[in-house]
Amino acid sequence: MKFLCLECDRQMAFDERAVPGDGTMAAVFKCPECGRKTAMLANPMETQLVSSLGVKVGGRTVPDANFEGIRSGVATGSDEAFEPPAASPGAVRWSVEAVERLGLVPSFVRGMVKKIYTDYAKERGIEEMTPAVMDRARTDLGLEGM
Ligand SMILES: [Zn+2]
Repeated sequence: MKFLCLECDRQMAFDERAVPGDGTMAAVFKCPECGRKTAMLANPMETQLVSSLGVKVGGRTVPDANFEGIRSGVATGSDEAFEPPAASPGAVRWSVEAVERLGLVPSFVRGMVKKIYTDYAKERGIEEMTPAVMDRARTDLGLEGM
């Protein structure tokens, strides 16, 4: 940050700085040519912003690996994206047999299919998903081949 004296077209020199202690910051710049002074006053938020910018500029805060992870996740798709949070109330348990059956569903629609079955079970107060429930849902919802 620089301050220029318009009259002299000179860069003003840092003259004094005061930090009153309430988070504000005052800096005075003085023109070496004509002696004109100008002051910069920053409120607590601005002072913090300037300080934090000074810390972050020039340093990487996010490693490359994170971006790679996001990119590959988007490229391949993920069943997890369709699943409700594990701890959500009224979550439907999937039996081993039901999970195996779900594994036969093409991966690109598996998440959606699982959600359809899960919603079906939730609406009927069914706590555990089994192949029998899947058969019933398929008949009820007309989902042949799922
Ligand atoms: Zn000047």
